[in-house]
Order: sequence, then structure tokens, then C-alpha cells
Amino acid sequence: MSEVTLKPGVVTGESYATLINAAKSGGYALPAVNVTGTNTINAVMEAAAKANSDIIIQLSNSGAQFYAGKGMADGFKAKVLGAVAAAQHAHLLAEHYGICVVMHTDHANKALIPWVEAMLDEGEKYYEAHGKPLYSSHMLDLSADPIDFNLSECARILERMAKLDMSLEIELGVTGGEEDGIGSEFEEGADNSKLYTQPEDVLQAYDLLNPIGHFSVAASFGNVHGVYKPGNVKLRPEILRNSQELVQKTHGTGDNPLNLVFHGGSGSEKAKITEAVGYGVFKMNIDTDTQFAFSKPVGEFVNANPRAFLYQVDPEDGTPYKKFYDPRGYLRKGEEGIIARLQEACEDLGSKGRSIARA
Ligand SMILES: [Zn+2]
Repeated sequence: MSEVTLKPGVVTGESYATLINAAKSGGYALPAVNVTGTNTINAVMEAAAKANSDIIIQLSNSGAQFYAGKGMADGFKAKVLGAVAAAQHAHLLAEHYGICVVMHTDHANKALIPWVEAMLDEGEKYYEAHGKPLYSSHMLDLSADPIDFNLSECARILERMAKLDMSLEIELGVTGGEEDGIGSEFEEGADNSKLYTQPEDVLQAYDLLNPIGHFSVAASFGNVHGVYKPGNVKLRPEILRNSQELVQKTHGTGDNPLNLVFHGGSGSEKAKITEAVGYGVFKMNIDTDTQFAFSKPVGEFVNANPRAFLYQVDPEDGTPYKKFYDPRGYLRKGEEGIIARLQEACEDLGSKGRSIARA
């Protein structure tokens, strides 16, 4: 078996497809981690380098806004420019971490279609100047809308993205829980077939989108965004297998023709994750767990050094606290928390030690 390798750095187009195929054929998936600034991006790249795993970095619209700065007067512009800034940061630095990095934007519902289109305006400028895309892929989540609207909009956007060698992630069926306020209107455990993606819907997506360009599908198989009390919704990874088999049978493709994405992965059982990966899941979103992994050690640091967060110099004994209140001290603790949590994630997903980047 010849070893497939890629140059370290942000991967796009054919290289992104190569990375996905390496994961699917190698029986592992890549963590997709939400970031909100340079601290979290750098921590994720460092974590991937330490685990010798390739990695997917993604920004939600509010994550991108935070990246640009919450105080920017034009919030919409901040969501666009923050996304651009994050991708430029990764394009500059990722190769120096020695691993492959996929740059992606997370859930964009109907109201956020203009955000995706504005990022594509920027992506077209970037492509013109650099001959490669700014982002590897964007996501459009119109799963709350009727499927015909969902797919026709996805097709329209993918037409534009395919010209830039970009990939589109779509969502079919409704993943329970809440992510950036989207999806909270759906009651978990509701007796609703929408909570489980129908293979016929996945086939319809494949028929429409495969001739246009590269895409991936987030399918609902009982997964829940965020961390909730377990028990309401049962994970049923076999739904993914049924979708793969329907497309394979209908189109006479090889095994696992679909590129599948696992949303709402925080807190999932390892056995179910492994089963889903076997059915062609190459990407698992991890957001909530890494947020806590960042914040917990920061809280511990503050609790262990409470007076350093009250006084620059202790009024009682004159102790100087600069080395404790310097933000680099506690932010590094947060970064180390993310790095440790992602070692576990890479192990769970089987991506540890499997980076295909070679300098
Ligand atoms: Zn989702």
C-alpha cells in the first residue's frame, strides 16, 4: 500500500479530498474544534502536532465575530472579517506546526446565508490573489427548512464554491440540542422522525450535489448538540450505514461513498463513535468539551491565586503579583487544558499518530 502524504499547512481542494479519503480508508476521523481567537487556534494546532494528528479548525458566526472583536460596530462585518482573519492566521502558521489543518466554518442557518455569501466574496478575492481558497469548506445548515429548499440552496452555493476548489458541508435532519442558539427550539426526545435522517433524503442530496462539487453530510442519528442529560435520544449509527448502502446500491459506487460528519459529539460513548467512524464519518465536532477544558484550569488558577486578581501588589505583605495576573499565565493554562482534552479526542477518533503531513 503506497503511503499518501500531504504538505503540512492548510489543506484545500484535492488535498482536502485526499485527507478525507485517508481518514475513511484508515478507519479514523478528525476532531473538528471550534475556535474563537488566536489562543484557541494555536492551542488546537499545538494539540494536533502533539498527537501527530491532522485537524479541522472551525468557526461559528459568533466565534468569527469574537475573533474580529465584540466591540466592532458593524457586527455582520465582524463575522465576515473575523472569519477571514482566522483563516489568514492559519494559512500563515499551520505549516509550522507540521500537520494538516482544514479551515471550516460551522452552522449557518437560513438567516446566515448572507454571511456565507459574504465569506465567499472574500474567498473569491483570496483565490484570485493566491490561487487557492481561503477556507477548505463552509457549512450551510438548512435542516430546519423543507428539504427541497435546503438542497436547492446548497446546490446554488456549491456551484459558486466548486469554482474555488471548496467543499460544502450540509445538514439533513435535525440534530437535537443547542449550538450558538440554533436548534434550541427542538425538543430532545420528541417522537420526530426528523431527529433521524432518512436515507432517501441523503440519496436525494447525493443525486443533486455530487455532479456539482465536493460535499459532506451531517446526518442526524440521535446526536445532540451540547451536553445534556443522557437518555432522551438514542444514538443509532446504523442510520449512517443505511444511507451509505442506499447511495452505493443506487449509483454502483465503492464502499462508503458519502463523506459523513458527526455533530454533537461532546459526551458520546466511545463504542458509538467507533461504529459511526466505520460507516464513513471522517469529522466529529467537539465544541462544548473543549470550552470546559479551557475554562476549568483558568478557574483553578484564579482560585489558587485569588489575591493576585485583587491587587497588583499585596497591601498586607507587599508581594508583587505580576507573574500571576499577566494574562499569558492563565491563558496558557486554558490552552494546556484544550491540548490535554484533544489528546483524548484524537485517541477516541483513532487519528492519533495518523497525520499524513510530511515536510
Ligand atoms: Zn449540526
